[in-house]
Amino acid sequence: MSTVKFFSGETVPLEMHKVRMVQKINLHPVEDRLASMQEAGFNTFLLKNRDVFLDMLTDSGVNAMSENQYAAMFQADDSYAGSETYYRLEAVLGDMFGTKHFLPVHQGRAAESIISQTLVKPGNTVLMNYHFTTSKAHITIRGGGIEEIIIDEGLKITSDYPFKGEMDLNKLQEAIARLGAENISFVRLEAGTNLVGGQPISVKNIREVSQICRNAGIITVFDASLLADNLYFIKTREAEFADVDIKAITREMGSLMDITYFSARKLGAARGGGILTSNDALANKMRELIPLFEGFLTYGGMSVREMEAMAVGLRETLDIDVISQTPIFVEALCKELLSKGVPVVTPPGGLGCHVDAGAFCDHIPQPEYPAGALAAALFIASGVRGMERGTLSEQRREDGTEPLAEMELVRLAIPKRVFTLSQIKYTADRLAWLYQNRRLIGGLTFDEEPKVLRFFFGRLKPIGDWPEKLAAQFRKDFGESL
Ligand SMILES: *Cc1c(COP(=O)(O)O)cnc(C)c1O
Repeated sequence: MSTVKFFSGETVPLEMHKVRMVQKINLHPVEDRLASMQEAGFNTFLLKNRDVFLDMLTDSGVNAMSENQYAAMFQADDSYAGSETYYRLEAVLGDMFGTKHFLPVHQGRAAESIISQTLVKPGNTVLMNYHFTTSKAHITIRGGGIEEIIIDEGLKITSDYPFKGEMDLNKLQEAIARLGAENISFVRLEAGTNLVGGQPISVKNIREVSQICRNAGIITVFDASLLADNLYFIKTREAEFADVDIKAITREMGSLMDITYFSARKLGAARGGGILTSNDALANKMRELIPLFEGFLTYGGMSVREMEAMAVGLRETLDIDVISQTPIFVEALCKELLSKGVPVVTPPGGLGCHVDAGAFCDHIPQPEYPAGALAAALFIASGVRGMERGTLSEQRREDGTEPLAEMELVRLAIPKRVFTLSQIKYTADRLAWLYQNRRLIGGLTFDEEPKVLRFFFGRLKPIGDWPEKLAAQFRKDFGESL
């Protein structure tokens, strides 16, 4: 396991890999970081990577690949139809999840598009533990509605409940009774629940949801994009599974859910995605859409080289040394921040550390995007790029009003096996400085606001000249050093 007990008694994260290929990164002076942020319209998605020091925007497609993954890319079988690569990947997925059919797609949201096109009818509802931005967009664009029925504990910023991503079974039964099973397109469970802080679900919860839905005749859909971290938490937090093989846990999940889909930009540390099912009728319906939107059935819009890397990466997901790396670094960052008084989501989840921007910037009203402002301020103070996960990531209503997010978070994603412990400590230190100076941070307002998924490419401007004041204070406190 990737922690070690020191002679002093302290438990410390330990990297269970060595770095054999590196990429140079740049830490620019604070004045340049301010200029980059202004140029990016105070949206961290619009920063250029060359201006970023530590890229903690996401874990998507930026995880470190193993030597075996790179090696596998050389044996890719290039052919439009019937590629050997496809059959190798299909075999790995079938073995891992115990499912019969594999439909390849170019990334996670493509799976969401195919599933929604197949199952969502206008006016129907999808019940889910919690939404993810793209999964919700694909449902609503087809006229479906969503209801989030996560347990109450899931929306508490601080908690010691180990599986905060779980679905509330009473709310599930109530919703089925109220809506009628025939009006529910499907029930969607997301592993490692992204937008509430990478919080896991237990196998027990999956079993119970599956049982209720099977009794009611409702299709279940499992978003396994963040499964790797979730598997680690099941092994370490769910007593029944402490000694159970990771593959056996994964196979049980595959058997409990009617459809499993994933983004291989996360799961399998490559790029691409897939849909899995053992249901012939569902597989046949979805299959028709693959050549139309993705590509032929044996590549689905993916490069064969990425498919080979994915097959190896998926197999490596069954190794606890591999999947523990991110959660242990997330925990280390959270602990370091808590010790400096910085509010974060607890218990630490997978994916990244989630800073509670609502508490951090409690002087900034929600319509002025406190989490967006904190993400911008952190970049100016450190060159670290995080992601806003709050009101900015919501969609404005038709009548022009803003739905306020339940939580205002800044996510500092920890891609798998990319950063070192000193980089984690640097991030914590600069955030602690920012916390001391948090009253210098002000709000943001939209300059250009796209209608759909506005957080990706919307441009904002600061309310007042707080970014300049923040940069000046940084220069004063840190002198000539970066
Ligand atoms: C990233 C993600 C997706 C979408 O996957 P992409 O490959 O980015 O399209 C869907 N669900 C969850 C939980 C994710 O984290």
